[in-house]
Amino acid sequence: MSTVTCTTCPYCGTGCGVRAALQTDGSVEISGDPDHPANFGRLCSKGSALGETVSTEGRLLAPKIGQRPAAWDEALDVVAEGFQHAIDTYGPDSVAFYVSGQLLTEDYYVANKLIKGYIGTANIDTNSRLCMASTVAGHKRAFGTDTVPGTYEDLEAADLVVLTGSNLAWCHPVLYQRLAAAKAARPSMKVVVVDPRRTATCDIADLHLALRPGTDIALFNHLLCQLHELGVIDSTYVSAHVAGFDAALDAASGTDVQVTGLSHKDLSTFVSWWATTEKTVTVFSQGVNQSDHGTDKVNAIINCHLASGRIGKEGMGPLSVTGQPNAMGGREVGGLANMLANHLEIAEPSHRALVQDFWASPTIVTSQGLKAGDLFKAVKGGKIKALWVMCTNPAVSMPNASEVRAAIASCDFVVVSDMFDTTETAQLADVVLPATGWGEKTGTVTNSDRTISRQRGFLPPAGQSRHDWQIICDVAKRLGFEDGFAFDSPADIFKEYAELSGKAAQLGVDFDISGFAQISPDDYDALSPTRWPYPAENTANARFFAEGGFFTPSRRANMIAVRQPDHKTPEANTTFRLNTGRIRDQWHTTTRTGRAARLNQHYGEPFVEIHPEDALQLGLRPAELAVLENHYGRAVMRVLVTDRVARGAPFAPIHWTMQTASEGCVSDVVHPVFDPVSGQPDSKSSYVAIRPF
Ligand code: SF4
Repeated sequence: MSTVTCTTCPYCGTGCGVRAALQTDGSVEISGDPDHPANFGRLCSKGSALGETVSTEGRLLAPKIGQRPAAWDEALDVVAEGFQHAIDTYGPDSVAFYVSGQLLTEDYYVANKLIKGYIGTANIDTNSRLCMASTVAGHKRAFGTDTVPGTYEDLEAADLVVLTGSNLAWCHPVLYQRLAAAKAARPSMKVVVVDPRRTATCDIADLHLALRPGTDIALFNHLLCQLHELGVIDSTYVSAHVAGFDAALDAASGTDVQVTGLSHKDLSTFVSWWATTEKTVTVFSQGVNQSDHGTDKVNAIINCHLASGRIGKEGMGPLSVTGQPNAMGGREVGGLANMLANHLEIAEPSHRALVQDFWASPTIVTSQGLKAGDLFKAVKGGKIKALWVMCTNPAVSMPNASEVRAAIASCDFVVVSDMFDTTETAQLADVVLPATGWGEKTGTVTNSDRTISRQRGFLPPAGQSRHDWQIICDVAKRLGFEDGFAFDSPADIFKEYAELSGKAAQLGVDFDISGFAQISPDDYDALSPTRWPYPAENTANARFFAEGGFFTPSRRANMIAVRQPDHKTPEANTTFRLNTGRIRDQWHTTTRTGRAARLNQHYGEPFVEIHPEDALQLGLRPAELAVLENHYGRAVMRVLVTDRVARGAPFAPIHWTMQTASEGCVSDVVHPVFDPVSGQPDSKSSYVAIRPF
């Protein structure tokens, strides 16, 4: 007999439901949950291999202080003393948390509460900054809040789906399966892929627009102008619900679409399909977000949907798909340095007062904290004296990673809570705390279409490991904050969070799960996937903005005047514009997926895709080693010669960390350039030189 637990996949933002059947021999059989609205039983290669990744081999099983094992009480005392010393000596802004879109919502909630309401700094940022911060900023500029207007069903209901900077086939495979199935059932549906690379997603594309890297704004500004010329503007919607149309159109009209490098025929086809297809969805992901003008790219896309009134209705709208399983949950609880809690604003006095009053906290932050890039700069500059990294590995995932490693190494006091003490960041820590992982943890996550699902534990914690929310509360109590952190369970935390959301919604923000404000532990245990808003009256619509109702003071959406930036000049001797991203069968830095042998059969080592003519020019043959280098560092990778990439625009996956210090990792050559609005790193256009190893 086996015990079956309904939970969710811990990888991408699709948020698939998983059934985990624990066998009597301790093995775990995985299948897709047929009742989960994200996947209806489907799973991708990563999700279906989850059962092969739950072994406790190699796990950190007890706390460590330096290299020696320690009891929990001693380790927690040392952590609290380290943070208290920094706060007392240098002030609250001398401490920081760097957290993760892999944390569950309840973990995120207490971390955010501790630092913003009790310690008194907003220095908490998350690896979600690397993933979707430009979308958050773009949503807020356009809608007034970080609201995803549509749903996954819109993908299937659309007659035209435009995938921009999104390799859905590999990065959100189940969404891709849903789209492919809808297209197979209704062949008149058209799919356009906008991507410099010919990715696996192009397999179902009716049109692939292989535009020059970084020219998305030119494409969508051109589209906006053409919609205007063709009379496709929904003037009724615009006049009732939108501000900034004239300025946005004026900015767009100055765009030279030739910079995209696209043919007149392809551009005409794209414009014609968009103009004549009311049910249009534009999906966008990291190809849009990870840019030094990512926020403007997001708004260029949203502008076209607002101008045509194609938003919030079945089969219509912009749809951001997030990289991580709980990037959305993190956004909702305020786990970014520039947000408060529950979509409330740090800069808004009434919002701060509400949160402080609700938390009964001794303080509340009044200004934004340091975003990831600035946070590690502050660590390097000695301004951050105590740093707590939870569930992520910035030493190899941040841009200019070698400098981030040096920064962490130089910090007075570093704490890491993680499943492993072998990560590059944990190796630099003063204290490492063993945290539970997928299969052991319990809580909630929110996927890309606002659906909140339960993650449920079905395995005992490995060794002495503890849940992240417990560790954070234990440290909070040692810092003297017993009252605010007397939670007994994730259900307790979720209930408080839901209560706060009801009060926040009364101040006019979108996020509302007050229907859960009185949830009992049993109901929390049984919680089925629920898309927010879920207000107490349960009268919510599945979509936002079909009839306006934006969350700006005027209740109108803002079209933003955006311009295509000038082409960047590469630094001397670095002529290749390196693109980075995910591959199908690995996740982040492979700490979990690398444990499944079958996932390593897809690609098993760092590689770089290079166009055949570039390879010829460089004297590189397939499967040889190449060195990528620039001002920031170097990385050694296997050469994969392919015309899937354009000349001058190689691609390398993000997953592999340093095999040896001398070989480096791809993040060592990713430049530390950030979007000025969102703070998101530009991880897709670092100039590098390439030579044989
Ligand atoms: Fe997991 Fe994403 Fe695959 Fe679904 S599509 S099984 S959430 S990795």
